[in-house]
Amino acid sequence: MKIAIYPGSFDPITNGHLDILQRATKIFDKVIVLVAINSSKNHRFTVEERVQMIKEATADIPNVEVDSSEGLTVKYAKEHGAGTLIRGLRAVSDFEYEFRLASANEFADASIDMVFFMARGDKTFISSSAIIELYNNGVDISALVPESVIKRL
Ligand code: ADP
Repeated sequence: MKIAIYPGSFDPITNGHLDILQRATKIFDKVIVLVAINSSKNHRFTVEERVQMIKEATADIPNVEVDSSEGLTVKYAKEHGAGTLIRGLRAVSDFEYEFRLASANEFADASIDMVFFMARGDKTFISSSAIIELYNNGVDISALVPESVIKRL
């Protein structure tokens, strides 16, 4: 069984994340969405809220599981029988960050590979932080996030 981990902050999950996830579930038998706990970042939603919003938004995708974890994602992957980490790329600026992350992951455990999905054209501007910014300024963001996020904003 091919298992992949999709790690991230998901603060909150967006339709950009969901698009990547939907595409990944067609390639992998199971995808575990992993809310990576990073206490050095300021988050709008708690880990439990983020996990719950993802669970509700992915309830209709059968081969998706949702979990949270502290520490290295490659370690989590190994422990859960996954050989791949999934990430998304929106812009060149993402590439730089992701390239460094991939190199660090490779150094930590070269047996875990990373697979990148290009953001769809209409989703390249969607980020969790942009959504919060738009929402805080009164813009209707219902086309950008799942219902499970709308009801908690
Ligand atoms: P992190 O803090 O780990 O970057 P995010 O939740 O911001 O966590 O993002 C998780 C992953 O999803 C990252 O690889 C990011 O580039 C990707 N991603 C976020 N939004 C989009 C989008 N609209 N289209 C494609 N990929 C995306």
